[in-house]
Amino acid sequence: GVTRRPLMAGNWKMNLNHLEANLLVQKLAASLTEKHLTEVETVVLPPFTDLRTVQTAVDGDKLLIGYGGQDLSPYQSGAYTGDVSGPMLAKLGCTYVVVGHSERRAFHYEDDAVVNAKVAAALANGLTPILCIGEGLEIREQLKHVPHCCDQLDAALKGLTPEQVTKVVVAYEPVWAIGTGKTATPEDAQEVCGEVRKRLGQTFDEGTAQQVRILYGGSVKASNVALIMAQPDVDGALVGGASLDAEEFAQICRFP
Ligand code: PEP
Repeated sequence: GVTRRPLMAGNWKMNLNHLEANLLVQKLAASLTEKHLTEVETVVLPPFTDLRTVQTAVDGDKLLIGYGGQDLSPYQSGAYTGDVSGPMLAKLGCTYVVVGHSERRAFHYEDDAVVNAKVAAALANGLTPILCIGEGLEIREQLKHVPHCCDQLDAALKGLTPEQVTKVVVAYEPVWAIGTGKTATPEDAQEVCGEVRKRLGQTFDEGTAQQVRILYGGSVKASNVALIMAQPDVDGALVGGASLDAEEFAQICRFP
């Protein structure tokens, strides 16, 4: 079978100025050995204003830590005040970018069509999109979470070739588990991640589905990461709150 390298991605959200960002990256690097960083891909996703500083820290010390943006414009350049483009992120050495986070969908009204365009923009610029999907509490209570997530997946990947899809990372983040301390059970995480892989196999092909890394996100901590990672279709975690503490995030990255 295919071996998928585990990926731990720390979404800092709107936290840490560039000085604090530098400190966190240095501390994180000090807590992880080259062996850890080779086994588990470790990525930080700081605010745009921190990216240059993170680049300097990573390049200067030749750290094996990746980094990326939390969003990108669907456009390459132009009159889009306040937005940041794929070429700008790529030029700063970013290799990842979050697309369609539930906070962007909720607070910036991003719909499936915008998310689809952003996934395409990321790929066009050589960035790996971390495509976030996930249901709110109401949908979960109606037991419609699997079709909801698969619909979001299909919409976001519309028009992509199987070759492009292998370069996408999918993050299943149940909205009711984000920043709430309510972690989905490992079985809940596996259910949706497994169904997502199944859908990728149906929409594209089985070989593609086996290559795509699927993350779980929602109140992941050092204390619960191991059981979540033990699930067959969970290949990593997207970590919010717990990624702001260097020691906690390093512990998450050292899960095996
Ligand atoms: C997130 O928003 O991507 C996230 C997983 O947040 P938290 O870990 O804080 O629930």
